[in-house]
Amino acid sequence: MKENSEVRIDHKIGRDDLIVIAGAGGFIAGALTRYFHDLGYTRIRAIDRKPLPEWYQRVPGVECLSLDLSEKHNAIQAVEGAAEVYNLAADMGGMGFIEHFRVECLRSILVNTHLIDAAWRAGAQRYFFSSSACAYNTDLQRDPNVRALKESDAYPAMAERGYGWEKLISEMFCQEYWAERGLETHMARFHNIYGPHGTWFGGREKAPAALSRKVIEAIDSGATTIDIWGDGSQTRSFCFIDDCVLGIDQIMHCDRLISTPINLGSSELIAIDDLAAMVEEIGGVKLQHTYDLDAPKGVAGRNSDNTFIKSVLDWEPHTPLRTGMEKTYAWIAQQYADRKAGKRVVKD
Ligand code: NAD
Repeated sequence: MKENSEVRIDHKIGRDDLIVIAGAGGFIAGALTRYFHDLGYTRIRAIDRKPLPEWYQRVPGVECLSLDLSEKHNAIQAVEGAAEVYNLAADMGGMGFIEHFRVECLRSILVNTHLIDAAWRAGAQRYFFSSSACAYNTDLQRDPNVRALKESDAYPAMAERGYGWEKLISEMFCQEYWAERGLETHMARFHNIYGPHGTWFGGREKAPAALSRKVIEAIDSGATTIDIWGDGSQTRSFCFIDDCVLGIDQIMHCDRLISTPINLGSSELIAIDDLAAMVEEIGGVKLQHTYDLDAPKGVAGRNSDNTFIKSVLDWEPHTPLRTGMEKTYAWIAQQYADRKAGKRVVKD
């Protein structure tokens, strides 16, 4: 299995070809923009509906546009001249968001619908869609001791209501644009991506960021307890952002993965209670756990079966959770201190 440093990718486009990245004011697309910039790509167009000052990262030298891509004319403007289009724009958040705002989640279908059509009409060579593990059949995720989900487990379909169904239908759009219209499409089903430069307070944050913030708050206030959503037994795997962007690049440029959804996640499974304990250890504190059984908690268990990605890419996301959480915790601790000092920080 290849280490990240051993991965070699045939990008098939020139350094001066235009790469369009949608959702770039957010977490993953912001990191992807930085990644391609650092690889030496000179023409990157980053787009998000948020006003520029609210973007989590702004990469120098990158064209940044504030456009609502659920509007057809904006989608057409966004992809003009593009060689590659990466769609990571979606209205989303952790369980607290996707269980309460299903309409917003479903409306993200407008972004993909307009963007893929505009990309095809503009003659783009390749199109990437960020799907999710929430596309998988929820009936297979009722037990914390879950068997890992393989790509074929999305059907028969019983996706996460709202958010998951939007992902599944958008995947179908990608497959049919390839089958009927010849646009080369690639799709990754992300499993809980985490790391620095993501949202960490305000309601859209996911478990790794939320638990880091709660531990930091407890240390700051002298509290002895931490509030856990659910009974803490629910299990997940978490994929570090550096693995995620490297995975996106490999998936987008792999001929065997045209029109073929693939898991992009870690297979290191952990219970939320144990993740909280890990964060406490990183913060150097031991807290008592209280359980909010009425809070949104999602499915009982979910893990990524990486058999397929290993067979195709000879690689899988493998940053140890502890290593990634140390980096994430350090970044959130700095953000917390900055916010306290009245400085501008990343928010939702
Ligand atoms: P994020 O919320 O940080 O970023 C998404 C960005 O899309 C936001 O900045 C938002 O403003 C933008 N956006 C939303 N609607 C838009 C519109 N109409 N026009 C333009 N921009 C719009 O989320 P993220 O974690 O970076 O997720 C990126 C993609 O990956 C999303 O498609 C998400 O569903 C998918 N995904 C993420 C995870 C995860 O763990 N973070 C897991 C599975 C799938």
